[in-house]
Amino acid sequence: MNLKNQFIVKALQSTALILLLILNGFVLNFILKFELFKEKKEFIDEICKSKLENLDFGFDNRYFEIQKNKLKKNQLLPEILSLQGISNSISNAAIANISQIHNIKNLRAGNTYAFIHSNTCQTPDYFAYEIDQTKFVLCELKKDACAEVIERESYSKEEIATGTIETSLWDALEKNGVSLNIIDQMEDALSSSVDFHHVQKGNSFKLIFDRLYIGSTPTSSGNLIAAQFSTDNNESYAYSFIHNGKQDFYDNEGRPMRKSFLKAPVRFSRISSPFSSNRFHPVLRFSRPHLGTDYAAPTGTPIMAVGAGIVESASYTGGNGKFVKIRHDKMYQTQYLHMSRFAAGINPGAHVAHGQIIGYVGSTGLASGPHVCFRFWKNGVQVDHRKLSFPSPDPLPKEILPEFFKHRDLLKLKLDEAQHTAYISSTHPEAL
Ligand SMILES: [Zn+2]
Repeated sequence: MNLKNQFIVKALQSTALILLLILNGFVLNFILKFELFKEKKEFIDEICKSKLENLDFGFDNRYFEIQKNKLKKNQLLPEILSLQGISNSISNAAIANISQIHNIKNLRAGNTYAFIHSNTCQTPDYFAYEIDQTKFVLCELKKDACAEVIERESYSKEEIATGTIETSLWDALEKNGVSLNIIDQMEDALSSSVDFHHVQKGNSFKLIFDRLYIGSTPTSSGNLIAAQFSTDNNESYAYSFIHNGKQDFYDNEGRPMRKSFLKAPVRFSRISSPFSSNRFHPVLRFSRPHLGTDYAAPTGTPIMAVGAGIVESASYTGGNGKFVKIRHDKMYQTQYLHMSRFAAGINPGAHVAHGQIIGYVGSTGLASGPHVCFRFWKNGVQVDHRKLSFPSPDPLPKEILPEFFKHRDLLKLKLDEAQHTAYISSTHPEAL
């Protein structure tokens, strides 16, 4: 290679390097800007959220001193106001104005009231009394003593609960501040893919749900958005999705989670006696086949129809006690024995929905303790329902799937990124 060629190669190399550096700069700049934008947006989101969360009786608790107390029995408004050093004239005006908008004879012991100070060295600026979770009375403690009833703003906040089962699923969920309402929805969403009767130590769950807040107070209302449940050999996902105006849960492939039948007719129960062709009967004291599955649960626990169908019988026999039998289709029937009572409207001919409550656990008939003996009939023969597999229902229509997959990917990422540590405080009212 001659000198001139070498020079051209060098020049080309340098140009390429410079171009690469410039390009790098652009890319870096873009990434940086994007990151900054993202951070800024998150920061703004944070401020907007905290605005509502920091509000106590409409006052930002970062700038006002809010002294809260519970109303004691027989405690009256004049006494409460005078204890704060409020002058008689203002106190009288305040009471007169409050009684125009709320019956002050109706102040309830145990309800919260508060004094709001902008300067703690002076008498309070406002008096607030909580009528209920959704509204409160606010009265200015100045000459005019304006008083009004204020409705609290409500909003939904997305929360994630994660946990690992140490003792029982119930304990783990409760510890993580998951409300009964969300637990119900989780069971609904996953009951066809997770056998909640065989949950074991080390199994874990992740739940994304909306929680309704009234003012800054968390409530137990809300909706499950997505759930994941892991056992040693299985990972189940469920995503809430609205199709044709109907909300339902779907798996990773967009197939409905709701299979034709629930795995069990009672929630959070224990199998006390499995299906067997030969067992020792605890009441009759001799061996005979047990053509059902016994689920032990406290008397009064709701019993659900495992699938939609028509009630064939709701009656009583000496052995079965109070029982309900449902025909689901040409092939399948189910029967639920030893009920303490039937649910309202459960009569022969009544239509029941999947998961509808049809009666309550009891020990009527030949039963040694409260349980439901669940019997599953296929073509008129009693079979072990836990050994049957039912065909999966059809997935969402092809044209809906791309939209569903987008929705699923977002939620799956959130679930997968959630660490197995709970960060929901246990101060939530329903975590009791
Ligand atoms: Zn039984």
